[in-house]
Amino acid sequence: MSDLRGGIDLGGTKIQTVVVDNDGEVKGQARKPTPTEGGPADVAAAMAEAMREAAQEAGVESGNLGGIGVGSPGDANGKTGVVSGARNLPGWENSFPLGETLTDALGTEVRIGNDVQVAVEGEHKLGAGHGRNSLLGVWWGTGVGGGIILDGRPWLGRGAAAEIGHMVVKRNGARCPCGRRGCMEAYAGRAAMEAKARRDLAKGVETDLFHVMKKRGKDRLTSSVWEHALREGDALTESLLRRAIRYLGTGIASAVNLLDVEAVVIGGGLGVRFGDRFMDDLAGEMHKHLFVDDNPPKMQVAELGDLGGAIGASLLVAP
Ligand SMILES: [Zn+2]
Repeated sequence: MSDLRGGIDLGGTKIQTVVVDNDGEVKGQARKPTPTEGGPADVAAAMAEAMREAAQEAGVESGNLGGIGVGSPGDANGKTGVVSGARNLPGWENSFPLGETLTDALGTEVRIGNDVQVAVEGEHKLGAGHGRNSLLGVWWGTGVGGGIILDGRPWLGRGAAAEIGHMVVKRNGARCPCGRRGCMEAYAGRAAMEAKARRDLAKGVETDLFHVMKKRGKDRLTSSVWEHALREGDALTESLLRRAIRYLGTGIASAVNLLDVEAVVIGGGLGVRFGDRFMDDLAGEMHKHLFVDDNPPKMQVAELGDLGGAIGASLLVAP
């Protein structure tokens, strides 16, 4: 058995794997597109293949790794290794024993965790939140996810904690992808922002967003589409991003009023892309709603980059 461990970040569009040593140093990595057809078994097979590739790059067999951690979307049960309701993955509405399947395929113990929570734990151990006793991670991407560290340890609640995207920031407000109304994600999640942009376009609002999308060969408003449209000075892009920031600030302030964390780390596709640019605005929006406003938490952007989710996942099997 080597002192190397594996980490897998299972996303809706890509599977990222890493092999890290005990210091969190990346020794091998691989990336594959997430299968868009088939079912959980096909996704698991692609994950195993990507993990073997990363192991090969690090010069080990997957079976000789000291364990592998997986950050998974949906309802990921860390005790049983079962993942349910991962709706952005093909045919994954029901339960699938992902941990057991990957353990058999890769020949070493595989543990499962929530994708955002493990990424936040990675930032806490090795990145932006290093050394903090308490931390709130806000992952701003297609949806808005969260992770909490309290007293130096992850706070999982009964398994469903830190769903900050579904904190209500407006009663009877905009419809959220979760089906409820007025959630922070209904204003700040990329999927909800795209839906709003399409409604505005249909109403005759002028915008370059969808031209930029087509020019870049995309069929969705990805983070890079938002960034390019903002750079071109598109007014709707700017106003929807500012609206997202207002609601993020409102929701984060409520969480800070409740938890009084030392730091807030902003990650995710939009968070990493726009975090630095909008951090002062975000802090300002948050500040308006802080009950104790003379000692705000430190606001930081996630530091581990594209590999952060996979590196964080590898900590699930840390010694
Ligand atoms: Zn919601």
